[in-house]
Amino acid sequence: MNDDRPVIKMDNIVKKYGSHEVLKGVSLTVNKGDIYGLIGKNGAGKTTIFKILLGLSESSGGEISILGSSTPKEHERSRKNIGFFVGHSFYPYLTSVENLRYFATVKGIPAKEQKKEIDRVLEIVDLKGVKKPASKFSLGMKQRLGIANAILGNPEILILDEPTNGLDPQGIADIRHMVRRCNEEFGMTVIVSSHILGELEHTAERFGIVNEGIVVSEITQDDLKEKEKVIEIAVDDLEKAKQLLADGGVKVLREVQEKSSLEDFYFRLIGGGGK
Ligand code: ADP
Repeated sequence: MNDDRPVIKMDNIVKKYGSHEVLKGVSLTVNKGDIYGLIGKNGAGKTTIFKILLGLSESSGGEISILGSSTPKEHERSRKNIGFFVGHSFYPYLTSVENLRYFATVKGIPAKEQKKEIDRVLEIVDLKGVKKPASKFSLGMKQRLGIANAILGNPEILILDEPTNGLDPQGIADIRHMVRRCNEEFGMTVIVSSHILGELEHTAERFGIVNEGIVVSEITQDDLKEKEKVIEIAVDDLEKAKQLLADGGVKVLREVQEKSSLEDFYFRLIGGGGK
């Protein structure tokens, strides 16, 4: 879906809290139609990046551009095209429909269009027909209600901060499916963060790797495949196979114990890592 037009650009963004520099010059580019995975361990700076993009936090330096904006006024206008989920925020004593009706009103969706739009998003997040108040929801349901709110009004850009945090494998798979659907069916550019590498490896087609307040690398699925020119051969006698390769003048440079290419790339970049 990607057509290589930047919808978001951050250039050398710095964020300080007092003397603590939490973003040290973040630059990243998200193209139209991307599913962009922002990967980094807890505390790396992912949420701060999102807050600055969303105007919820002010940067201490650097430039941003959202859908071509360049002035604060234009940023504000462009931000109306972003739906976001950065932690839960809903009224616990209201049902999903009641919560979404409130958010739809805040977003300026006309009253006569709200029912249809709320039905649409509830179907996407699989909460249709759930009548209980949000306080009685499971964690997965709460995350899905958060996503329903984010996609109300069918925004061009969807930002999801750690949407799978704390979920079980089924919950994670459900969210992955929703992300793909928002991208493929509704044409949203999606930026989704995670501190778990494997979670986005097969969902995102571009990745920004954040470490200690810097995007240390941006890489595509194709780049990853390109880097990994390795064939896997299953043999019945590993030692003999290695000996035969050695006899044939072939050096075994590396033995890989089933590890994902993104994981491999990440740990080579950041250090530490895989067993
Ligand atoms: P991530 O989302 O990758 O886990 P965050 O962006 O939440 O990382 O945090 C990056 C760093 O900024 C952390 O060291 C965190 O403690 C610090 N930080 C975040 N918000 C504040 C704040 N309001 N005041 C001071 N430090 C903060």
